[in-house]
Amino acid sequence: MRILVMSDIHANYTALQAVLKDAGAVDETWCLGDLVGYGPDPNAVVEEIQEIKNLTCLMGNHDVGVVGRMSLETFNGEAKRSLMHHEKVLTASNMDFIRSLPSKTKTRGEATITHGSPRDPLWEYILNTLTARLNFDHFDTPWCFVGHSHIQSVFVKEETSDRVTVEQTKPDEMISLRPKLILNPGSVGQPRDRDPRAAYAIYDTEARTWTPKRVEYNIAEVQQRIREAGLPEKHAVRIGEGW
Ligand code: ZN
Repeated sequence: MRILVMSDIHANYTALQAVLKDAGAVDETWCLGDLVGYGPDPNAVVEEIQEIKNLTCLMGNHDVGVVGRMSLETFNGEAKRSLMHHEKVLTASNMDFIRSLPSKTKTRGEATITHGSPRDPLWEYILNTLTARLNFDHFDTPWCFVGHSHIQSVFVKEETSDRVTVEQTKPDEMISLRPKLILNPGSVGQPRDRDPRAAYAIYDTEARTWTPKRVEYNIAEVQQRIREAGLPEKHAVRIGEGW
């Protein structure tokens, strides 16, 4: 099976469309959460996601916040402002869809999938080898896919030792999967690894490969919608620079 793995769309409809088009035909789509927050298009994103066939979609912390299961006070000021806006504009049926999503870690064949980390699905960021190392004991499958950090990355635990390293990856460079790995497809709508292109990955379950991907989209158009909606200027600036 050829599976599109994506995360952290953050109400960026233009980036989502670019990813779906670039990925082409896939057997399944796995979305690791954060449909909303930051961006200008929460309804368009949630509606597009619902159209995807063979979809597994998890809740991210922003999704949990927007449906009121977590206080918006736990978010920083600018993130909170966007969520308050989304809370207002999201239609009742789109809210219901978000509410229906699972927020727990799931297992799919050889992969564990979660938003933040396997030991703390909603809040923990796996940004370094130390945090990755603590998480390798929290899943039983050979590999685990996470989102949340918005950074396309691969953490490797060596089989014979406890050593955890970060593997440098390049878009379109296929990685052979082997035990034990933690992989992040990056963020569709708000990449933070200084590459502003939308990020995702293709997981091939038979070949056991993972291919990180990047695709350009019309960033200026999204920045304009962020400004028109009166959302924080910071959210417009950062998608142009990838931080
Ligand atoms: Zn996020």
